[in-house]
Amino acid sequence: MEDLNSLWQKVLQKLEVSVSSVAFELWLKPIEALDLVDNTLIIVAQSATAKNQILKNHQRQIEDGIRIVFNDDTKFELITPEEKELYIQEQETTEEINGDEERFEFNSKYTFENFVVGKSNQFVYAGARAVAENPGKKFNPLFIYGGVGLGKTHLLHAIGNYIMQFSPQLRIKYVTCEKFTNDYIESMLSRDEESKMEFREKYRNVDVLMVDDIQFLSKKEGTQEEFFHTFNDLHQNNKQIILTSDRPPKEIATLAERLASRFSSGLIQDIQMPDFETRIAILRKKAQQEHFLIDDDVIEFIADKISTNIREMEALLSKVHFFATLLGKKSASLQDAKDAIAENFEAQKENLSMDTITDAVCTYYDVLKQDLLGKKKSKDIVEPRMIAIYLINEIMDVPLISIGKFFGGRDHTTIIHARDKVSDQLKHDIDLKNAISELKSLINNA
Ligand code: ADP
Ligand code: MG
Repeated sequence: MEDLNSLWQKVLQKLEVSVSSVAFELWLKPIEALDLVDNTLIIVAQSATAKNQILKNHQRQIEDGIRIVFNDDTKFELITPEEKELYIQEQETTEEINGDEERFEFNSKYTFENFVVGKSNQFVYAGARAVAENPGKKFNPLFIYGGVGLGKTHLLHAIGNYIMQFSPQLRIKYVTCEKFTNDYIESMLSRDEESKMEFREKYRNVDVLMVDDIQFLSKKEGTQEEFFHTFNDLHQNNKQIILTSDRPPKEIATLAERLASRFSSGLIQDIQMPDFETRIAILRKKAQQEHFLIDDDVIEFIADKISTNIREMEALLSKVHFFATLLGKKSASLQDAKDAIAENFEAQKENLSMDTITDAVCTYYDVLKQDLLGKKKSKDIVEPRMIAIYLINEIMDVPLISIGKFFGGRDHTTIIHARDKVSDQLKHDIDLKNAISELKSLINNA
């Protein structure tokens, strides 16, 4: 079938010969065809004035053109750009209600079978498994926490996939904390009772609610409030709640306080980076899944190289495989792995400068570079400044004196002080740890 736009172009060709060329250029040519529903062609004029002019002077000609190109029964509706916006929004909401939302698909690769169990994660695995087998009955809530890229989302999907398979009658809702927040804010903004009800229905009318990365709730009061109501409501009705976070509940102050009594009936389980053997098993599994041919010594090399984040470990595996493919090889060798990493490293070094790092910090904290390098002593500048100094020290190989010079002629002892202060704080401050890790990826992609 021809697409709507090319059909509309044919209508325009008819119109071009039936109206004056000024009128055509000015009013008709800019019209855009938007949609065809139930024999009505929806077209958009350039402005409200254009719409009036067109309807006043050219309605008949347009009707005729449409009848020839489409069919005798096709009518048209001319709308303004504002009406177009509304039209699109409306369609998106109906799509959400009928489609997407309800048909959330769990990632089919994130299953219990594909989750490699070792010492570091056997308890969290057992907990997740027990909840999947007895939702609402065993541990409620199940709270899983641990660093970035360690398998929290994987486990949520595994529970989801399992329940969908073995208890398909249960209604499961998986959301990120961000999505929950946005939904809530949207329902508040609309001010009408109906959409507030809709929000409640959506989150309380379920058998299993999963909220991923709940730590983001910590700063949003209204959403917090709503979440606690939702939580209590579900919990009282023995509906299963599963939460993940990058930190333990006691470090999300309000959450810990308000849900303390509920947590006693639940299970709080942390997830750690797997040991070397388990990392190897994870890489083997991944290579198998993706049909990568990779030597064992390469796998060991990668497992040894990366020890903090499984996602990064997997990324490096793909990179090595890709690198070998580029060289026309079937299977990656240890040398390929080393070359791939070295290439990575050199490319990074070339682009890296104190400027790149400072720029990234300025963007991240939304401060001016001149302030960061200057003399200001306010907290909102001093902290990012120390972090920039810390990062330069960690990532680059430059003398302290040069760093001092770069930061507006500061003494090297000031630089050491800043560096050590951040390192110390990193030992207990999870927010800072996450910020540093996000900054590093910002810098790597700069
Ligand atoms: P998080 O949500 O904790 O940041 P993810 O669940 O997104 O981490 O996991 C990151 C990647 O690591 C995913 O591709 C996931 O499949 C993989 N992964 C994590 N833990 C394991 C494991 N034990 N076995 C197999 N793959 C794992
Ligand atoms: Mg996750």
